Amino acid sequence: MTIENPENLLRQSIKLPSPPAIAIRILEAVKGTDSSSDELSEVISADPALAAKILKLANSSLYALSCPVDSIKKSVTVIGINALKNIALSFVIVKELRGHAEGGFDFDFFWKRSLTAAVGADLLSPVAHGKSDDLFVTALLQDIGIVIMYLSRKADYLRVLDERMTAGSSLCATEQHIFGFDHQEVGALVLKDWGLPDTIYEPIRHHHCPEQATEKFAPRTHMLWLSDRLSSVYHGSHRVEVVQQVRRELAERYQVDKEAAQTLIDTVAERSVEVLSHFDVPPVDMKPFSLILQEANEELGKLNFSYELLVMELKQSMERAEKLAVQLRAANKKLRDMAFCDSLTGLYNYGFFQDAMDRELKRSARYKSPLSLIMMDIDNFKRVNDEYGHQSGDIVLQKVCSVISKNTRNSDIAARYGGEEFAIILPETDIRGAAFMAERVRKAIEKLEIEVTGGKTLHVTISAGVTSYHPGEGGASKLQLIATADKALYLSKNTGRNKISVVK
Ligand code: GH3
Ligand code: MG
Ligand code: MG
Repeated sequence: MTIENPENLLRQSIKLPSPPAIAIRILEAVKGTDSSSDELSEVISADPALAAKILKLANSSLYALSCPVDSIKKSVTVIGINALKNIALSFVIVKELRGHAEGGFDFDFFWKRSLTAAVGADLLSPVAHGKSDDLFVTALLQDIGIVIMYLSRKADYLRVLDERMTAGSSLCATEQHIFGFDHQEVGALVLKDWGLPDTIYEPIRHHHCPEQATEKFAPRTHMLWLSDRLSSVYHGSHRVEVVQQVRRELAERYQVDKEAAQTLIDTVAERSVEVLSHFDVPPVDMKPFSLILQEANEELGKLNFSYELLVMELKQSMERAEKLAVQLRAANKKLRDMAFCDSLTGLYNYGFFQDAMDRELKRSARYKSPLSLIMMDIDNFKRVNDEYGHQSGDIVLQKVCSVISKNTRNSDIAARYGGEEFAIILPETDIRGAAFMAERVRKAIEKLEIEVTGGKTLHVTISAGVTSYHPGEGGASKLQLIATADKALYLSKNTGRNKISVVK
């Protein structure tokens, strides 16, 4: 039994593209002879569009040259043959693998991510271990396996993207699951086939799992991994976690302090915008991360401010509502009082008395408790009005009523029945108790010294009639009860006044 070589499996499984013709010429040109710089210049200059792009990039902030270069030949001497080769390869390969956004794969996004990673790697190289010309192109091509897998087996690769979204597993694990290999292996194999150096394809082989890299390539593999993370700061979905991861890695592995880390992260955005335009990838609104943070903080500040205002407004309207509720309660009480009470004397009014009689009679029948009623009338009141005036008559009414109020229990209901006629309902009170109460009121009024207008003092008396309803002794209607109390009152009037009479 033969064990299938994984590389063969991969080769059988997908079609690895051959390198673009011009890439072959570029790689041939730099194959270590003395004339290589001239040859490279020739190859590049033969493609004026490519040459123009290279010059633009060479003069960009990526190389920060002290004086601009205006020819490919000059650029070889200024930025070096290796750097020139890498720029050329970058342009050529991106152009070759620049598909159209069709069928669910976003090429623009792919190259945006890769170019940002390349810029990140370029910024990382001095931080890590000296400037390396290859880092830009290595980071740019680290995910080239993705494009190749997609172009070779589109439906399967779209399944990878779908499954990854729904299952939330890593891209490499999903590729392994569906293809049996991942884009790291594909990328490394293709670039090796194309004749690129191992310093490029070996780090790519493990860029998502740098701990698996051989010792020789471990440092570069770590940088690739970090360049991918840097790109995720701007194009990933968990930015905050990624930024923390990047800062931690920069501090622990490369001893980059917080401030320098922030500058590096911000510069990635600033420089990427420029580089993207050189590669004809649609311009994006890539703001430096610290600016994004600052804007977020400002938004938060505004939110906080409006939140405070909202709370203040809420508090004020709650206070207003509370005040209104107090006013409403007072107004309601006044309304109730107006509806139920007599305005001159403060006793309940006739209407309230009638309702109370109905209620108390029912209650009395239900609980089998006695109910008594006293009717009272001021004696010869007409004379008070006649002798002392109506105003004095009013004062007398008020004083008499306050005596009635003071001599009744809370459960008793004292009402002004008519002009100078009053009624007191006494729940749970039998006829003896009611007679006792009526007599007590009569006596208190008799003793009352009433000061009226003109400083005069006068006395009044009342006559009262008392009756009761005792459940079980046969039903009694309200009208009957009132009529009986009235009868008793007239008995008092007819037998000398200032007295109480009881009629059962
Ligand atoms: P009696 O002993 O028979 O009850 O004689 P009286 O004079 O009290 O009875 P009468 O019914 O003849 O007169 C009642 C008077 O009460 C007539 C009316 O002017 C007076 N009166 C009724 N309501 C008021 C009131 O609100 N204020 C004043 N000042 N007088 C009132
Ligand atoms: Mg009277
Ligand atoms: Mg009267």
